[in-house]
Amino acid sequence: MFRTESLPADLPVTRIRMARSFLGRPLHEVSAYRIGDLLVDSGPPPTARRLVEWCRDAMDYRPISRVVLTHHHEDHVGGAAALQVELGLPVLAPASAVPILAEGLRMPVYRRLVWGSPRRMRPEPLGEEVGARVEGEDLRFQVIPTPGHAFTHVCLWEPTRRWLVSGDLYVHPRVKYLRRIEDVWVHIESLRRVLALQPEVMICAHAGLVRDACAAIERKIAWWEGLAEEARTLRVQGWPVRRITRRLLGREGFFYYVSFGDFSKRNLVRNLLAGPGVAGAAPA
Ligand SMILES: [Zn+2]
Repeated sequence: MFRTESLPADLPVTRIRMARSFLGRPLHEVSAYRIGDLLVDSGPPPTARRLVEWCRDAMDYRPISRVVLTHHHEDHVGGAAALQVELGLPVLAPASAVPILAEGLRMPVYRRLVWGSPRRMRPEPLGEEVGARVEGEDLRFQVIPTPGHAFTHVCLWEPTRRWLVSGDLYVHPRVKYLRRIEDVWVHIESLRRVLALQPEVMICAHAGLVRDACAAIERKIAWWEGLAEEARTLRVQGWPVRRITRRLLGREGFFYYVSFGDFSKRNLVRNLLAGPGVAGAAPA
C-alpha cells in the first residue's frame, strides 16, 4: 500500500502512508512526512520503489533536499538507501543509529516477514538541529533525544510553530504491547520531556496529525502510570504476572504469536512492575 495525502491548509505537510500488503490488506501501516524540503522517515522496505518514484515526481515541483530518520526501525528506514543511491539525497540519522544502519539491521524473523529487511546505507549523524525550508520560510527543527521505544529514537521540534514530529513516541494513547528490549519507564520520561515543550501539533508516524498534542501525551502517560499502579496492587496481593496481565489487558493478540512472545502484553506488565531503571536498553 502506498498513498499520499495533504494535511489541512494550516500545515504544509504531506503524509505518505505505506505498508506491506498481504492478501490485499495492509499490514501495520506507517507514515513518512514531507515537510517543505525535508522528508522525515522513509517507510518499510517493500514500498521503497514507490517512495523513490513519488519523490522523483514531487521534486519536479519543489525540491526535497534531505531525508531525516527518527530511529533505526525497519518501518522507518526502508526507503532511505534507495533515496540516497538513486536520487542522491543525503540521509541523516541519530548518531547512535548510524553504525546500525551502516552494518545492516539484525532482526528477528517475524519482523523480516512483516516489514522486510532494509538495505544497508551510509547516513550522516544528525546534529542538534536540522533546517527545513517550508513555504519560503527557513524553519529550524531541534533534535530531541526520546529513547524508550528504541534507544536511538529522536523527535523533531519546531518551536516557532510548535510542531513536534514524533516518530514512534506516541503511536496510540493506550499501547498495550511491548517488545522485550523496550523500556516503558524511559519512554514515559521521553514523553515528559516533549510535554514540557508544550507542542500544539504532533505529527505521528502511526496516528497521523494529532491536534491538542499536550492532552494526547498526558493521556498516554496517565494510561501507563495507571496500569502500573493497578499491576502493583495485584502483585502485592500475590498475583502472578500472567494473571495480572490477563486481568488488566485481556488475552494476548495476533502479534504475540507471530513474534513468538517478543511483542506482548506480558512484557508491558513485567516492565511496569520492574519500575524505572531496570529493563530495556539493548540495540534491536
Ligand atoms: Zn519503531
